[in-house]
Amino acid sequence: MKFSRRNILLGGAATLVAVPVVAQGMWSAKDFERPGFDANLPTPPTGEKAWMNWSGAQKATPKQFGVPQNVKAVADLVATAPAPIRPVGTGHSFTGLVPSEGTIVDISGVSGLLAHDTAAQTASLGAGTRLNQAARLLEGVGLGFANMPDIDVQTMAGAFSTATHGTGLKLPAMHDYVQGFQLVTAGGEIKEVSATSNPHLLQAGKVSLGALGVITRYDLKLEKLFNLHRRVWTVQMDEIMDQFEERINTHRNFELLYIPGTGVAAALSHDLHEGDVTGRAASEDEDIVEALQQLRDIFGWWPWLRKQVALSQLPEGVLEDVSDSARKLLSTSRVTKFNEMEYHIPLENGMKTLREILPMVERKNEIFFPVEVRVTEQDDAWLSPFQGGPRMSIALHAKANERYDYLFEEFEPVLRRNGGRPHWGKHHSLSAAELAALYPDFARFNEVRRELDPEGKFVSPYMANLWGDA
Ligand SMILES: Cc1cc2nc3c(=O)[nH]c(=O)nc-3n(C[C@H](O)[C@H](O)[C@H](O)COP(=O)(O)OP(=O)(O)OC[C@H]3O[C@@H](n4cnc5c(N)ncnc54)[C@H](O)[C@@H]3O)c2cc1C
Repeated sequence: MKFSRRNILLGGAATLVAVPVVAQGMWSAKDFERPGFDANLPTPPTGEKAWMNWSGAQKATPKQFGVPQNVKAVADLVATAPAPIRPVGTGHSFTGLVPSEGTIVDISGVSGLLAHDTAAQTASLGAGTRLNQAARLLEGVGLGFANMPDIDVQTMAGAFSTATHGTGLKLPAMHDYVQGFQLVTAGGEIKEVSATSNPHLLQAGKVSLGALGVITRYDLKLEKLFNLHRRVWTVQMDEIMDQFEERINTHRNFELLYIPGTGVAAALSHDLHEGDVTGRAASEDEDIVEALQQLRDIFGWWPWLRKQVALSQLPEGVLEDVSDSARKLLSTSRVTKFNEMEYHIPLENGMKTLREILPMVERKNEIFFPVEVRVTEQDDAWLSPFQGGPRMSIALHAKANERYDYLFEEFEPVLRRNGGRPHWGKHHSLSAAELAALYPDFARFNEVRRELDPEGKFVSPYMANLWGDA
C-alpha cells in the first residue's frame, strides 16, 4: 500500500471512532499558523517594485529592481543605482540576505556556458545560470558537477555564495569547484579573480553572501559525466544511527530523513554506476510530505496513535532502486513551501547532537517535515561553514505558513552548543560577534569587504548586523 493522504485517513479511521472526542477537538483547535504570515507580495509605494523570497519569510519594496543582461550593464547599474544594493539569485535563501529598500540586482540574464575544456574538466559559465541549466549545458560537453543539493533551481551565484551543499563525506560544498570568477565591485570596476591573480580574494569570494560585489562569471573545476545507483529504504532510526559512520564511509552520497513521531528514517544512498541505466519514475516526495502533515493534523494530539497509524502505512524495506545520470538523481523538486534551520556540526559531535535533537523533535508534536541529516567534506574558503573539517548537517523545517520561533528558542541553542555553524541561507539568529568566534577568517573577510566597498553600498540593515557595521 502507498504512503498517501488517503491511506493515512483510512488507516486511522477505525481507531479514531474509539477515542475521546474532546482530546481530538483540542488538538484540531491548535493554531499552527505564524502570526502575520501573508503569502502575497507586499504592495510597493508608487514607482517601486515588490520582491519576496521562496518561503514568503523575506519581503522588500526596492526603489529599483535591475535585470542587467551583460557585465557592462551590471557595472553601470552598480555604479549608479540607489544603495543598499543586494544581488539576488532565485530567492531560495530563508535569511534576510537579499531584501533591500534601495536596489535588488537579478543577473539571471548573465547566464549560459561561455567556455569549456572537456579534457581539462573546466568550464566558465555566467553566474546567473541556474544549477539545472548549468548541469544540462555541461552534460552537452561531457562534464558535470561532482555533487548537487536537494533542489537544482538556484543560480550558481546564489548557491555558491551561501555554501550550498549536497551530501557525501568525500564531497565538498559546491563553492569548492570555483577556480576563478569575475566580480563587479561597488565602484563599477570589473575585476578578474583567480588563484594566480588574487588568491586571497578567491578564498574570500567563493562564499561571499553578495557582500563583495556582483559576481558575473565563474570558472569551475568539474567532473567527467558519471551515472549513479540510487537506493532509498526505510529503516529503524536507532539501527541506522549505529551504522552511520560505516554508511558515510561506504557510500559516495549518504543521507537520512528521520520521519517525526515514527522511530523510522528513510535512508538514501548514491554510488557510482557503470553500464545501462534504469531511469527514475516521478518523485512521490510531495505526496509523502502531505501525508505526514495529515498525520500531524489528525493524530498529533496522541503521539502513540500517530505512530501506530504511520507504522501501519509506511512502506517497509527498499522504496527505490534505480540508476541514471547524476544530475537526474541528486536533486528533486520541493513544492510544499517551508522555512528551514540547518546547522553544520563538526563531524565528531554530529551523532551526539543528533541524539540530543531527536527526542526534542518527538516532544514537539507539530513538527512533521522529516529531519534531514547529511555530511560534507571540508574546504578552505574563508566563510565556508565546512572550513577546518568535515561536518554533519542537521536540518529542521516548518511549513511556510506555520510558526518556527521554537527553532530559535529550543533547537538553535543545542546546535550551537555542539559547535554548529549555521547555513548562511537558512534561518539563524547569529550576528557579528558570534560569527567572528566561529570563523577564523571572519575579520580578514570583513577587511577585504571594507576595502572593496568602503561606502557600504552592499550593506543592508540585515548585512550590517552580520558584519558588525554601525
Ligand atoms: C526548497 C529548498 C531546498 C534547498 N536545498 C538545499 C540543499 O540541499 N543544500 C543547501 O546547502 N542549501 C539548500 N537550500 C538553500 C539554497 O541553496 C541557498 O539558500 C541558495 O543560496 C539559494 O540560491 P538562490 O539562487 O536562490 O540565491 P538567493 O537566495 O537569491 O541569494 C543567496 C545569496 O547569494 C547572493 N547572490 C546572488 N547572486 C549573486 C551574484 N551574482 N553575485 C554575488 N552574490 C550573489 C545574494 O546576495 C545572497 O546573499 C535550499 C533552499 C530551498 C528553498
